[in-house]
Amino acid sequence: MTALADHTPLEQFRQYPRHPHQSARLPLAESIASAGLRAAARSLYIHIPFCAHKCHYCDFYSFVDSRDRQPIFAKRLAHELRAIAPAAAGFPLSTIFIGGGTPSLLSLAAWKTILDALELAFDLSAIRNGQGEFTVECNPESVSPELMDLLRSAGVDRVSMGAQSFKPAHLQTLERLHTPDRVAEALDIAADAGIQRRSIDLIYAIPGQTLTDLERDLDAALALPVEHLSCYNLTYEPNTAMTHRLNLGQFSPCPEDLEIDMFNLIADRLTRAGFGRYEISNYALPGAECRHNMVYWRQGSWLAAGPSASAHVGGHRYKNIPRLETYLETSDTGFASIIDHEPPDPRRLIREKIMTGLRLSEGIDAGDLLAQLATLDPEAADSLESEAITVENSGLLSRSGGRWRLTDAGIIFADGIAADLMAAVG
Ligand code: SF4
Repeated sequence: MTALADHTPLEQFRQYPRHPHQSARLPLAESIASAGLRAAARSLYIHIPFCAHKCHYCDFYSFVDSRDRQPIFAKRLAHELRAIAPAAAGFPLSTIFIGGGTPSLLSLAAWKTILDALELAFDLSAIRNGQGEFTVECNPESVSPELMDLLRSAGVDRVSMGAQSFKPAHLQTLERLHTPDRVAEALDIAADAGIQRRSIDLIYAIPGQTLTDLERDLDAALALPVEHLSCYNLTYEPNTAMTHRLNLGQFSPCPEDLEIDMFNLIADRLTRAGFGRYEISNYALPGAECRHNMVYWRQGSWLAAGPSASAHVGGHRYKNIPRLETYLETSDTGFASIIDHEPPDPRRLIREKIMTGLRLSEGIDAGDLLAQLATLDPEAADSLESEAITVENSGLLSRSGGRWRLTDAGIIFADGIAADLMAAVG
């Protein structure tokens, strides 16, 4: 714990932009709102950066805060929420997702500050009348009845629980703090509070994990009162402690062929249990798909608040600077300083639609995409269509009902196929 906590400032430094032109304070959301793009965003992501412990595989912007900055963070976040709210133009929000970090680590007082600000700044009527979706990410060890009651009373109807594995040895490998039993307890607490929609995250391809281990994890997950499962393979991101240990040869990663077998096992086991795969790594009972994540994957628009949170509004992409100290600096307007601003670019949007759309079981509206590209560059549209036909002929892509979808054989090659199609867009 201490060693990883020591690692955190270095990680923060690495994530902080070192070139002044990257960190200009741009009240972008303000200018977007005044440019008449207001009604574009009906979704909101909020990032809570605090964690009780830095898991050594994690490259999210999150850290152990030894300085008890939750109260000032919550006040600052409330200020930002008030600032960005006009970009929803008074329309009801349809989805909110509060992630992190570990949102369930926040104190009740900090939560009250944030939830009150949300209620005052935005129209939450669609969420409150059951037509929207309000998700909070939780870690099992920090779920309490008081917190779940508070969240439910504020309109939260969905929790996403970080289970990751049900085998103690693998939880230890991942440096997770909870016990397997605690996942069921936390889900019961959420259910008792009236939070009807519950999801869990699993990680596979953990070093030392066998197919039998994974099968047991899936069985344990399916025995829980959940409607949704996200199953991600363990990835070794640059600058994480786990990747450093891997590079030092301290352990062996999961062999690639075993990882593919695990990927197939997950699909087989979960679909047999009635969970449909609607995105490569996400499974849901009918109608229980995560609506907020679908906004991302369909390249919709969403607002964002909190350090490191990324937004997509009116074709603009940008990200709040991932550094709490910068975020907490007084801002008269309430807007956060941003980095990685990309102005609207129709060709980029087409590439992004290919990248995320191919991961969805609903696929991509091929006619619509080709028509959009043809208005920009007819040659590129021809080139994209012929590239898609090549992939179709190899049996990895199908075109039916006017949509491109990866076939079962193609799913495992999703990234490569998307790269080829995106290259054709130019
Ligand atoms: S709890 Fe989640 S966000 Fe926090 S360090 Fe672990 S994986 Fe990262």
